[in-house]
Amino acid sequence: MHLVCPTCNATNRIPDERLADAPVCGKCGHALMAAEPVAISDQALPKFLANTEAPVLIDFWAEWCGPCRMMAPQFEAAAKQAPEIRFVKVDSDAAPGASQRYGIRSIPTLLLFQGGKEIGRQSGVMPAAQLVGWARSLLASHEKAGKINT
Ligand SMILES: [Zn+2]
Repeated sequence: MHLVCPTCNATNRIPDERLADAPVCGKCGHALMAAEPVAISDQALPKFLANTEAPVLIDFWAEWCGPCRMMAPQFEAAAKQAPEIRFVKVDSDAAPGASQRYGIRSIPTLLLFQGGKEIGRQSGVMPAAQLVGWARSLLASHEKAGKINT
């Protein structure tokens, strides 16, 4: 599976059977599957989404947003509960490109991607367990639909 390093933006190819062994980036040594949210810049986000084969869940947030501060610990807890999903934080003020591309009108907004394509979104604060359940059920139904189509 291809994974983009959140630190240096290099694309790494990791054999599927090694995904659970805490793979690190071949270029900079940073963890590729750390069970915690990583911040991705506006510039790095398109490549990160296009070249990351694992599911990606983005939290669009901003410093001044009260509900976003309530969402942050839930998002962190969800990252520990669902290590198969890459948890990404995008500061919407610092990312006008992504905010416009994805039509972010309110924050916090959570976007779920699979294979670089958005498969779901949800606005507002959600408890960690509910967030993980929402993401996993979307990923499962997406996978099922993909199998029917092929
Ligand atoms: Zn790296």
